[in-house]
Amino acid sequence: MVQMGACRGKHEPIRMCVFCRRRFPKKAMTRFVLKENSIVPDHGQCLSGRGAYCCSDEKCMKRLSLDRKGLLEMALRPKKKFLR
Ligand SMILES: [Zn+2]
Repeated sequence: MVQMGACRGKHEPIRMCVFCRRRFPKKAMTRFVLKENSIVPDHGQCLSGRGAYCCSDEKCMKRLSLDRKGLLEMALRPKKKFLR
């Protein structure tokens, strides 16, 4: 049997939803990571790399499925910083 809790959290990490920008416990959110140039959900929340989170709010889920602005993409792909 495969053990699910491979990465265990010590305390409750809080993450921000990329859509509503509210903060929630990581556990209550869906994590997405950039993997081989595509955005995949990280259900186990164990994949390494940059993650972006969507909360479980219905509106955010909807926005996630549309994501016209590419908010997830923006959160996941490090862009060049503004030059000063
Ligand atoms: Zn949200």
